[in-house]
Amino acid sequence: MTDADLIVIGAGLSGCALIYQLRLHGWKGKIALVEAGRGCGGRSASRRRRDQPDWRLDHGAPGFHLSQPISAELEPLLNGMREAGVLTQDHAEIISIDADGHPTSNGADAMPEGGWWRGNPCMASLCEHLLEQAGSEHLALHWQRRVRWLDFRDGEWTLSDQDRTWQLRSDSLVLSGNLLAHPRSLAMLNWSDVPLRTAVPAGIDSELDLALSQLARCSADVRWNLMMDLELKGATPRQIWLTAEARERWQVERLVLQPQMDGHTGLVVHGLHDGRSITPESQPALLAEQEKRLKTVLDQMLREMPKLQMACRQANSLGVMRWGASQPLDHPLQTNLQWCQSSRVGFCGDYVKGSGFGRAQGALESAVRLASRLISA
Ligand SMILES: Cc1cc2nc3c(=O)[nH]c(=O)nc-3n(C[C@H](O)[C@H](O)[C@H](O)COP(=O)(O)OP(=O)(O)OC[C@H]3O[C@@H](n4cnc5c(N)ncnc54)[C@H](O)[C@@H]3O)c2cc1C
Repeated sequence: MTDADLIVIGAGLSGCALIYQLRLHGWKGKIALVEAGRGCGGRSASRRRRDQPDWRLDHGAPGFHLSQPISAELEPLLNGMREAGVLTQDHAEIISIDADGHPTSNGADAMPEGGWWRGNPCMASLCEHLLEQAGSEHLALHWQRRVRWLDFRDGEWTLSDQDRTWQLRSDSLVLSGNLLAHPRSLAMLNWSDVPLRTAVPAGIDSELDLALSQLARCSADVRWNLMMDLELKGATPRQIWLTAEARERWQVERLVLQPQMDGHTGLVVHGLHDGRSITPESQPALLAEQEKRLKTVLDQMLREMPKLQMACRQANSLGVMRWGASQPLDHPLQTNLQWCQSSRVGFCGDYVKGSGFGRAQGALESAVRLASRLISA
């Protein structure tokens, strides 16, 4: 007997939206959600602090925009979140600076059409809401479980962690992140194989072969996000974007500021990657190097904003978060390959083709599309 009818790996926006949507449409099967992190949100998560329990810092996506067309299936999900007050339009100030640190006009990335939307009170609230609405019946949540091994035998999936002390079995499987299907895991995690490829060797399922070869070509941005606790009271812009020249000079995309309950301000510096290879051995040194680099360039880029510059000089660093694949850049997975029937494996996430590819909207769109497919299967 299996543990679940469906296992969903990943509690980011797409994994949570998929479960919500399946339940909304009356899908009653047993679902197990497996997540490597301590809670939901994935790249739209909010970091908590052990020493400051009220802190919530959106250290990945600080918000997102919705571009047209928005699918008819996604609208009700968005409306539900708006009505519950967890998805709100973000009217906070957004500014841009040039390569001399001078304020300049906002470009389209700083001020996208339709404006910014964000989770309320924080980005993690979106996934928390979706799971809450999905209900707890026949839903098992497995936090802090990083799946390393996949096995598909006699029509049954078995998942296990690194040392195979934990296992879970199901009839069907959905990968929301693409870590288990993409060769980037080889160097970054020192893995010897791509787990999904090993589970279903080439030549058995032609749809999966095609999906895996498409996924392998998809590249993604690495980000080094420095997080800081600023003793800075009063209004600040929510985001400070850098122009193309400023990005080139400082290798930073934007600064994101977030007021906290204790009156302090959380700051996230979105640092760009210089292309060097990241391995478990090289990562600790790279994290330390990025922390030093980002603090130095922060001081330079804020010279026209002395109050903020001073607060950053005196700030408490909360460390650097390395996002191994912050946003997919190219080669989206074709929508017809989101579900591979013979292996009973599916994909959802921002790496799937469609409106909002590479962004939060794309993650949600892919989830509602896959839910329809699973319901009609
Ligand atoms: C720094 C940054 C800035 C961004 N800015 C924006 C923005 O301005 N606008 C915008 O629209 N989007 C932005 N994004 C992108 C946005 O966050 C993503 O598109 C969206 O959150 C993706 O959701 P997802 O469900 O597809 O993937 P994820 O959120 O990555 O969810 C996948 C989940 O699967 C889990 N997982 C993966 N492998 C395993 C495993 N083997 N075992 C167990 N769990 C596993 C991961 O821990 C993760 O929680 C940004 C992202 C980052 C990192």
